[in-house]
Amino acid sequence: MKIYSHRDNNTHQPLPYFSYGQMREPLEIPQRLEELLKAPKALGLDVINAKDLGINPILEVHDYGYVEFLKNGYEEWKAVEEDLGAQVQTGIYVPDNNPGLGIMAKAAKYQADDSAPFGEGSWNTIYWSAQTALAAADALLNDKSNQSAIQVCLSRPPGHHAGKKSAGGFCYLNNGAIIAQYLRQKYAKIAIIDTDMHHGQGVQEIFYDRKDVLYTSVHGSPINFYPAVTGHEFEKGEGEGYGFNLNFPMPHGASEETFFKHVDQSIDAVKLYNPDVVIHILGFDVFEEDPEARCAVSTKGFEVLAQNMKAIDKSLIVLVEGGYTVDKLNINLQSFLKGLMT
Ligand SMILES: [Zn+2]
Repeated sequence: MKIYSHRDNNTHQPLPYFSYGQMREPLEIPQRLEELLKAPKALGLDVINAKDLGINPILEVHDYGYVEFLKNGYEEWKAVEEDLGAQVQTGIYVPDNNPGLGIMAKAAKYQADDSAPFGEGSWNTIYWSAQTALAAADALLNDKSNQSAIQVCLSRPPGHHAGKKSAGGFCYLNNGAIIAQYLRQKYAKIAIIDTDMHHGQGVQEIFYDRKDVLYTSVHGSPINFYPAVTGHEFEKGEGEGYGFNLNFPMPHGASEETFFKHVDQSIDAVKLYNPDVVIHILGFDVFEEDPEARCAVSTKGFEVLAQNMKAIDKSLIVLVEGGYTVDKLNINLQSFLKGLMT
C-alpha cells in the first residue's frame, strides 16, 4: 500500500460564510488534514509527497476559463478598487448567458454556491490536492512490480462536487474525475465508487454521457440535503452513458446496516462492469458523530468498508474527501487503513 499527500495542504483557509439563513463556520479546514496525517504515522506507514504533473491532466476535465479563474481570480478580486472582501464569493450564480466581464461576473459564472469561496493561498492547496490524486494514478500507470495495487490519497479540499466549470460544496477541482480521465491513457474501464455522505454531482456531470467511466454513489437522499438537486436513482446517464451512472440514495437516519446494504449494491454493479481500476471516493462524513451525517457508520465500520473495497480485487485508489468530525478523523482513518492491510 502507498499513501500520498502534499505539504502545501494548508494554504487554503476558507472564512465563515452565509447559508441556510445564518453564518456558518467553515468545516473544510486545514486541521482536517493535520488529523488525517496522524493515522499513517500511528501505524508506521510512510507518506509520499506528491510531485508536480502539471496543469494539463486538470484541463482534460475542466474548462480552461474555469481553471484560469481559480488560479488568478483572487488577484483580480483584490485589484478591484472597491474592497470586495477577503475571499472571492458573490452569492450570484449565472452560469449561462454570462459574458464574464469583470471578476464579479466570472465568480457568478463559476461558483455554483456559497460553500466554495477562495482567497489568498487557496489555489496552491487546490492545485496540490489534485496533484496528490494524480501521483497515485501516475504510479499505477508506470507500475512494473504491482507495488501500486492499493493507494490512498490524503488531501484537501475534496473534489466530487466540482463540475467541469463549477465550484461548490467545498470543492474546486474534481480529483476523482481528473484521475479517472488520466488513467484512461492505459486502462479501458474505470469505476468510481463514491461513499461520501453527499452525492458527487460533479463526477456525475462529467461522465454522464460516457460508459468508459462508471460512476456509482451511495449517499444521503438529496431531498432537502446537499446537493439537493441531484443524486436520485432515476439519474442513470444519457446517450451511450445510459446505465453507467448508478445512484444509491439512503433514507436520512439510515443505520450502519443500511449503509452497507447500499454499498453492497454499488459493489455488485461494479463487479458486473469488471473495471481495470476502482477509484474509491471516501467520505468520513458518514460517521455517526459527523455534523453532516444522515447515517451512522461506526469507527469499526470504516475497517469493514476498506475490506469490502479490497475484496473487489482490482487496482484501488482511495481519495479521502469529506469528513468534518476533526478529532475523529485520525482514528477513523486508522480503522480504514487497518482494513486495507488485513
Ligand atoms: Zn460529503
